[in-house]
Amino acid sequence: MPKTVYFFASGKADGNATMKELLGGKGAGLAEMTNAGLPVPPGFTISTSACRQFFANQGKLSAEVEAEISAALKRLQKETGQEFNHCGSPLLVSVRSGAKFSMPGMMDTILNLGLNDQTVRALAARGSPRFAADCYRRLIQMFGNVVLGIPKDKFEAALAAAKKSRQLHLDTELDAEALHEVIARYKTIVSRATGKPFPQDPYQQLRMARDAVFNSWYNPRARTYRQMYKIPEDLGTAVNVQAMVFGNLGDRSGTGVGFTRNPATGRKEFFGEFLMNAQGEDVVAGIRTPLAISELRNLMPEVYDQLRLLSDRLEQHYRDMQDFEFTIQDAKLYMLQTRNGKRTGLAALRIAVDMVDEGLISQEEALLRVEPEQLDQLLHPVFETKARAKVRPAARGLGAGPGAASGAIVVTPEDAVTEARAGKAVVLVRPETSPEDVAGMAAARGILTATGGMTSHAAVVSRGMGKPCVVGCKELIIDLKAKTVSVNGRRYRVGQPVSIDGTTGEVIFASLPTVESELIRVAEGNLRPEKSMLYAYFKRFMSWADGRRRLGIRANADLPADARLARGLGAEGIGLCRTEHMFFAKDRLPHMQKMIVAETEANRRRALVKLLPMQRSDFRGIFEEMAGYPVTIRLLDPPLHEFLPKEGELRRALSLANAQKRKGLVKVRAIQRMLERVEQLKELNPMLGHRGCRLGITYPEVSEMQARAIFEAACDVAARGIEVFPEVMIPLVSDTREFELQRQIIDRVAEEVFRRRGRRVPYLVGTMIELPRAALTADEIARGAEFFSFGTNDLTQTTYGLSRDDTGALIQRYVELSILKSDPFQVLDRRGVGELIQLATERGRRARPKLKVGICGEHGGDPSSVEFCHIVGLDYVSCSPFRVPVARLAAAQAAVKEELGQPEAAHITA
Ligand code: ADP
Ligand code: MG
Ligand code: MG
Repeated sequence: MPKTVYFFASGKADGNATMKELLGGKGAGLAEMTNAGLPVPPGFTISTSACRQFFANQGKLSAEVEAEISAALKRLQKETGQEFNHCGSPLLVSVRSGAKFSMPGMMDTILNLGLNDQTVRALAARGSPRFAADCYRRLIQMFGNVVLGIPKDKFEAALAAAKKSRQLHLDTELDAEALHEVIARYKTIVSRATGKPFPQDPYQQLRMARDAVFNSWYNPRARTYRQMYKIPEDLGTAVNVQAMVFGNLGDRSGTGVGFTRNPATGRKEFFGEFLMNAQGEDVVAGIRTPLAISELRNLMPEVYDQLRLLSDRLEQHYRDMQDFEFTIQDAKLYMLQTRNGKRTGLAALRIAVDMVDEGLISQEEALLRVEPEQLDQLLHPVFETKARAKVRPAARGLGAGPGAASGAIVVTPEDAVTEARAGKAVVLVRPETSPEDVAGMAAARGILTATGGMTSHAAVVSRGMGKPCVVGCKELIIDLKAKTVSVNGRRYRVGQPVSIDGTTGEVIFASLPTVESELIRVAEGNLRPEKSMLYAYFKRFMSWADGRRRLGIRANADLPADARLARGLGAEGIGLCRTEHMFFAKDRLPHMQKMIVAETEANRRRALVKLLPMQRSDFRGIFEEMAGYPVTIRLLDPPLHEFLPKEGELRRALSLANAQKRKGLVKVRAIQRMLERVEQLKELNPMLGHRGCRLGITYPEVSEMQARAIFEAACDVAARGIEVFPEVMIPLVSDTREFELQRQIIDRVAEEVFRRRGRRVPYLVGTMIELPRAALTADEIARGAEFFSFGTNDLTQTTYGLSRDDTGALIQRYVELSILKSDPFQVLDRRGVGELIQLATERGRRARPKLKVGICGEHGGDPSSVEFCHIVGLDYVSCSPFRVPVARLAAAQAAVKEELGQPEAAHITA
């Protein structure tokens, strides 16, 4: 039988840092720190395999595992010289959850386990009666909540009552006698709620706590978190049982968290927060605002120096920024946890580049250290300088998650969700946040809290989400009942505007306009590159990425301005230019409509003549921006009725025109004709109807006009000495014959234009593969097509037979039920759609070895999908301009992982 319990003590542990899968991140970290000789209280880790066994066995562990746990407990008693239930030196432990991926605050931990009416007296002898009573009441509260499922506020109310009757404000002001009164009340709460007394037997406490920690794997907030970060549901959590150390032993004790670098900015500075005379959760819970770590230098210089040293050692050891927990018990330092610290996109970028410069990591490692999604954060807006200069911040807190956010005040997570759903920008303002608030935080533009530090729940979770966040804004008084927020005597209601700057910590009660990030401004040519430090980091990092990746990166852009931004962000061409977007403009639509309602070819051609110059000038603009790079232009795709007015509108207009009949019979007739056309064109399944190349087949003159506009624009631009590479793309082909008919038109027009202009430009004609039949007949199509571009939005839609526009709620339900791993419109379905892509690529290349193959669906900007494109050997991915940096990095990571022989990453870690 493989081992399931791993011991750590006295400089030697059974496990190590590589065993996260089995020991969880926390257990692996404790083992590794123990092995490295750091001061870690001894204990043992019950592995995640026990957790999986627990769930497979209806909540029971096998006798073997139970025996292993008993043996480990005996060993721990020996190691500490303490014993469960001992009246002289009782063993007290913490029971801590810890999964492979850290999920801060999502699962549960119980401290001071082993205390009961007997041992609390022995503990009093070790510290003071007050201290012992405080530990005991914390145990009953945590155990009552986590293990017995009694709501927290029952305990909080009892505690508040004890304070109130003595006219006290802080928990710390309660003396031993008062705390024993609280303990008595807590016990009553427990026995009333469960019908049983609070368990006095430490062994029973341990079993129950262990099972509760296993069960916390499936609590709703943990599930939500996993969904958000795409962490698999079946990993399970480990349980760590560890001897307690006490930060609440008096004023030579304390507890805190540290970071080896600044997690918000990435600056290389020792960073952290602590509270004196406090236990575990106090720091992160945001109940009291903690002190900056630099204060510790004044209070306990030796401990501070030791901590600094340990911080450096940890970072050198792990070669990554660490986020660690420590406790000082009577001036002695203990380390309780270390993990790779969560960080903002800015910090991730900066730390990765700096660590390469420091010789700590290689460029490849640096590339893997930044999540592609984090680059997206760097493109977020900041406040517009002028507007910002006109207002004074009403308050200031700690800038915990960078970026600027402006929106209406909401004070409950529920309101944040409903308002955001209604399309409103909101900022969630809370005294502090807790894991129950996560959905509301996700819905808000930004988060503002009154208490808590840089390591509070609000701060950690916001940074993970890439949300602007300000915490510890002490001036705020939030009245959750009245739904108001007051600052220095001024009161603001829910719905009034508030703006927060998550970099500076400023809070402004006004709605402020935001401006583009420096990276966007540089990309658009509105900021000189040498003026931006962020850009300097970005540029170096991205040059490493570009040096590694095999995939080309293009952008989907319909307008010259988008093309310019895409180039600025590193796109190497346009993978999809949707020409219909050029027809929706106000001054163009009437001509388009004329073309559609035309009853004869001659009339249709007359309307097309008007559209030609408009298309030509757009294409010119895009070719100019993309000088030297290919531009894929897709012929008209959507159903024609999308260009016509809505039926209801027309009926209303008709009755209005009828009422004023004398003025214009002509008008009535025109509306009638339009109405008839709308009715004729109406389709029950427009997405499967008269669209794509089917339009060009029935109205060849439309494709002809578009081809003419493309080649004339190309010749115009080439005449000015700019290189152009048009690639004409025929949409929604299902049979090679469709392709051939369209290609004939394009080639004929190209020759005509070239002859007339006396110049040729190189061009390709290819198709979008977005129907399963096209994928299956790819070999036939590739005989005539020079390139394929997978339109994965439609290909997913047609492969699943699921409408992307109608089935959002259904898909969400399917994900909850694990029928789907994730939304296939966001993350490419490798098994089904992916197989079609692979098969079409193979068949296509068999017919035409030089066939260029890319992808231009929404998936082109999704890291997992980009990785898949790399694996199947596509030539490029194309995504929206804003996703270009994400795609560049994802493509580089795919290449680096392949070199390192790492298996495909199935999910994203936060
Ligand atoms: P989380 O995963 O939510 O951070 P932890 O298991 O790390 O939960 O524990 C919560 C708090 O309790 C942390 O502040 C931690 O340092 C503290 N803690 C855990 N075990 C011990 C212990 N053996 N002695 C003292 N404090 C502890
Ligand atoms: Mg922790
Ligand atoms: Mg399509």
